[in-house]
Amino acid sequence: MWQTNAVALRAGDEAMLVDSPYFPDELEALPGVLAGAGFEPDALLATHADFDHLLGRLAFPGLALGLGEPSMQRLHQEPGAAQRALRDHDAEFYVERPAPLALGQVQGLPVPGSVELGPEELELHPADGHTADGLAVMARWCGVLCAGDYLSNVEIPMISPGGSIEDYRATLARLGPLVEAAETVVPGHGSPHERGAALRILDEDVDYLDALERGEEKPALPEGRDTVEQRDIHARDLARV
Ligand SMILES: [Zn+2]
Repeated sequence: MWQTNAVALRAGDEAMLVDSPYFPDELEALPGVLAGAGFEPDALLATHADFDHLLGRLAFPGLALGLGEPSMQRLHQEPGAAQRALRDHDAEFYVERPAPLALGQVQGLPVPGSVELGPEELELHPADGHTADGLAVMARWCGVLCAGDYLSNVEIPMISPGGSIEDYRATLARLGPLVEAAETVVPGHGSPHERGAALRILDEDVDYLDALERGEEKPALPEGRDTVEQRDIHARDLARV
């Protein structure tokens, strides 16, 4: 759903799963698929507290979920919101699950900050603006940037409750140098891109935010993102800002 991505990162004999797939069959298949490729996650990490990024424990019920401190705050301010959103979307798409979502053991991480993975380090960079929380994960040793819900080739910048144009702009400015230093950028939704494509999307997103700030009702949307659904997202963005 929504071309949702999960990313497995490995260094030494440790592995980490960032974000999660959505459908029960994907979640059920994930541990076997990853193990077959030599990835056995020791920990889970979510880029932000939107429900579609929090489902890792449905695939790996024994693992703790790492979240940035701003996401921890959001979970405390909106108790049960992620579970309700998942239930509502499951109902809409006729999805049945063997068990409801339990977030279990959750660990708050400082952002900006870093977490160790084997002999390497994952950098956690603030990425708010889409929502009030959010982090981007930079795995510098292997050139991978997990951008969270930014730099998507299928979704225009979405200003959700708690987000803002200002914070979104600041996040894009922070992501710029990280993209420059990355080989592969994986957005929360859409396809992974190489550096050049990610930089192009970043420029398009700045242009979109300019149009949004001007209050344009029918801005030109980037190629590949000019769809009925993205026009709906734009209408919601306009109403919110
Ligand atoms: Zn998302």
